Amino acid sequence: MKLKHFLWRCLQNSLPVNEAIYKRIRKGSSLCNCCGEDTETIEHIFFFCPKAQVVWKIVPVSWERITELQSNIWRWWDAVMQSAKEEQGMDRIKLTVNILWQIWKAGNKMTFQSKNVDAKLIVDKAQ
Ligand SMILES: [Zn+2]
Repeated sequence: MKLKHFLWRCLQNSLPVNEAIYKRIRKGSSLCNCCGEDTETIEHIFFFCPKAQVVWKIVPVSWERITELQSNIWRWWDAVMQSAKEEQGMDRIKLTVNILWQIWKAGNKMTFQSKNVDAKLIVDKAQ
């Protein structure tokens, strides 16, 4: 259930990412807490942050054919869901949600405890 709620918040764009926080309170920074190189949006955290890219490289599930949808998590997720009926589709989807969740948790660790979670550990935890 925790994961369902998390996913719902991802798709509603209601996770507290820096871009949204900055827009609301005009304080702090809209940059990513992990890399500091780009605006922290949900798509940046999950796909474009160098940290996330390492994770996706080693994770045993590939969404390469929908890479072009990564700039919009809603469209990307829609495409992921379309693979549900494929062989082992649901397993791949579950693993994918877990990966997103672990990336999100690792980002929080970085933000609140300045602790860096290794990409390998993120993938291990997701499995
Ligand atoms: Zn980043």
